[in-house]
Amino acid sequence: MKHIPFNKPFMAGNELRYIQQVCADGQFSGNGKFTKRCQAWLEESIGCGKALLTHSCTAALEMAAILIDIKPGDEIIMPSYTFVSTANAFVLRGGIPVLVDIREDTLNLDEKKVERVITGRTKAIVPMHYAGTACEMGAIMDIARRHNLAVIEDAAHGIMAKYKESYLGSIGDLAALSFHETKNIISGEGGALLINDKRLYERAEIIWEKGTNRSLFLKGQVDKYSWVDIGSSYLPNEITAAFLWAQLEKAGKITQRRLWLWSMYQKSFLGLEMSGVLRRQVIRKECAHNAHMYYLLLPGAKERDKLISFLKKNNITAPFHYVPLHLAAAGRRYCRIPDKLPVTEEVSQRLLRLPLWAGMKDRTIKHVIDTVIKGLSV
Ligand SMILES: *Cc1c(COP(=O)(O)O)cnc(C)c1O
Repeated sequence: MKHIPFNKPFMAGNELRYIQQVCADGQFSGNGKFTKRCQAWLEESIGCGKALLTHSCTAALEMAAILIDIKPGDEIIMPSYTFVSTANAFVLRGGIPVLVDIREDTLNLDEKKVERVITGRTKAIVPMHYAGTACEMGAIMDIARRHNLAVIEDAAHGIMAKYKESYLGSIGDLAALSFHETKNIISGEGGALLINDKRLYERAEIIWEKGTNRSLFLKGQVDKYSWVDIGSSYLPNEITAAFLWAQLEKAGKITQRRLWLWSMYQKSFLGLEMSGVLRRQVIRKECAHNAHMYYLLLPGAKERDKLISFLKKNNITAPFHYVPLHLAAAGRRYCRIPDKLPVTEEVSQRLLRLPLWAGMKDRTIKHVIDTVIKGLSV
């Protein structure tokens, strides 16, 4: 079989048609027709207060750090097992990420380890919904309310996934989505900031529009616009928003197809889990996930790396992640690490991700499954 990549960006169908409309309309800069359409869709489908498209999830997290007024020395509690942007967005403002271990089942921030690391400088908790499976948001929101902390969901993996009755991104004070081409719904690079705390609506738009009150001006609420706060250029252009609109239209179908592929993997590896060769993904009953990722946990680094090379020899790309933030050079420099993080360190040695994209053919996934099973029996 020819090479099976880890991800193939999936085209939903109408991308070029909508980009053509942008060209015909002649508005290419941000906050136009398609941007507004995408934002309305996100607000309605996710049930968040307000959505602002951004040029990346990283940008949305940076906006969140500005919005909650992170000052040098402020502490932000987050998992060490995450992508660098979760931490970097706060470090840019002088904040100090406080890195906490993850749960053994979902690999999400361990809510039981959060309260003990809260200090007088703690400003926020940033739960990251790993693989589109929700963090224990009930307990996390409760801790945050009792200690008067903001909650910012890193929902880069989480579009269309739920915790109990709520879509991810609608629970915290703020949330960030990613439309990077490796995520479920894509626009190449792209993201959104979701704002659930009404008191932050107006300032969010100001930060988004380079620190000006242009949004109020466009709504006719002020008669000229000017510089009123710090901010940057966080808007995506309309071409990106048009592409994204074509994807959002098909978000339900894309998620369904991914879930179907995901369960093919999950069913096929039950036997290997029963015989103790690997551990499969755990989906807790509170969570409706979105099949963002299919991963396996092998017994150790040796077994994991052996399987990676076997798959590579058979033309299948299966990567792993993350280098825990507390072990990275910048993590050591910028973060506080109050406790040991044994689960994080172990998982980063044992985890393997398998190819998964919405356009993946049945015979392709069957071939990956057969090859994994073969690789584990040699
Ligand atoms: C992908 C990702 C990001 C960053 O998303 P971009 O849109 O590429 O900026 C942030 N956090 C997590 C957990 C991610 O997986």
